[in-house]
Amino acid sequence: MMDKQRIIDRFISYVTIDTQSDAKSNTTPSTKKQWDLANKLVDELKTIGLQDVSIDENAYIMATLPSNVEHAVPTIGFISHFDTTPDFTGTNVKPQIISNYDGKDIVLNAEKNIILSPSYFEDLLLYKGQTLITTDGNTLLGADDKAGICEIVSAMEYLIQHPEIKHGPIRIGFTPDEEIGRGAHKFDVEKFGADWAYTMDGSQVGELEYENFNAAGAKVTVKGKIVHPGYAKGKLINSMYIATEFINSLPRLETPEHTEGYQGFFHLCDITGKVEETVLEYIIRDHDRGHFEARKEVMQKITNEINAQYGNDVIVLEIKDQYYNMKEKVEPVMHIVDIAEEAMKQLGIKPLIKAIRGGTDGSQLSYMGLPCPNIFAGGHNFHGRYEYVPVESMIKATEVICKIAELTAMKK
Ligand SMILES: [Zn+2]
Repeated sequence: MMDKQRIIDRFISYVTIDTQSDAKSNTTPSTKKQWDLANKLVDELKTIGLQDVSIDENAYIMATLPSNVEHAVPTIGFISHFDTTPDFTGTNVKPQIISNYDGKDIVLNAEKNIILSPSYFEDLLLYKGQTLITTDGNTLLGADDKAGICEIVSAMEYLIQHPEIKHGPIRIGFTPDEEIGRGAHKFDVEKFGADWAYTMDGSQVGELEYENFNAAGAKVTVKGKIVHPGYAKGKLINSMYIATEFINSLPRLETPEHTEGYQGFFHLCDITGKVEETVLEYIIRDHDRGHFEARKEVMQKITNEINAQYGNDVIVLEIKDQYYNMKEKVEPVMHIVDIAEEAMKQLGIKPLIKAIRGGTDGSQLSYMGLPCPNIFAGGHNFHGRYEYVPVESMIKATEVICKIAELTAMKK
């Protein structure tokens, strides 16, 4: 049995350290304060008895739990990130523990009347009778992804204390700056040396994900021509009207607010415009690589048509790929998903396998040579004051890690 209080204490020791990342910074980690938790984790990993504990100049942490069997077993990895989102404050997190949750409203903050209610957040009702950790309504919690770190550390500690559980070599990796899309880019896959890995960075119990969007960003710069409006006939070109033509040429229903499941979209994120120049910022998302490429072609075609109408370079289109669907890299090694699914089933957890409508560090790592599906870490309502995590879910995730290690060692 996992020690519940120990997991609670460990989790709280992480979330009370502020590790908010900052997209505007160019350093790695993006904020100095991430070192506070990183250094603490290094000490803790050494204390529980892991080997080769290392932290590099960018605060990437790695460590090893050596194999305890004679036969050769693939090296597997478990990965989490210790930063929290720049979207909401992580300063002065004051976790509240609700034991034996009764399924009713939870008052996060009486003074400010901030309520965590199952009438709005229905998922809460899944956890009646369990122990919830919430915020005090003023900050996020940081279960994304300190729950994942807590589970990995707790699982390694458990395996060290229970040598009767047989496993192969296990590598663990903790990264900064995942929330600003830079968790993977300085990850040394070769040094990590695992055959495959899992990010512990999903939400609800049972989540197991190995498909995500293909993603690109598009910048549409429309050049106008400014002339005094009183003398403008036949001369002035208003970039804002041409930008509007561009916007209206894209399918109006292929947007985030009209799509779900495997449906892709164009998302207009930002417009800045004046007569002389208008810039549109889009993101393009699609699970299917062919459809993804076709979306980029649609944008190019619209650009060409408008340019033909107004003169050659009225629109400049720049498209940059951001990340790709990890499915391409995971499907050839599908046993790594099967093992995780089997681990959940053996623990009585119903696997919830679905395609992510976003990206993960795992998708980038998969393309860097480390196939890396994503597993639940247990938290809900990430990136805001209503974030919470059931302790029982963290225990289940910890057990899943141990079980994956065990099953991997049993595979011949
Ligand atoms: Zn996360």
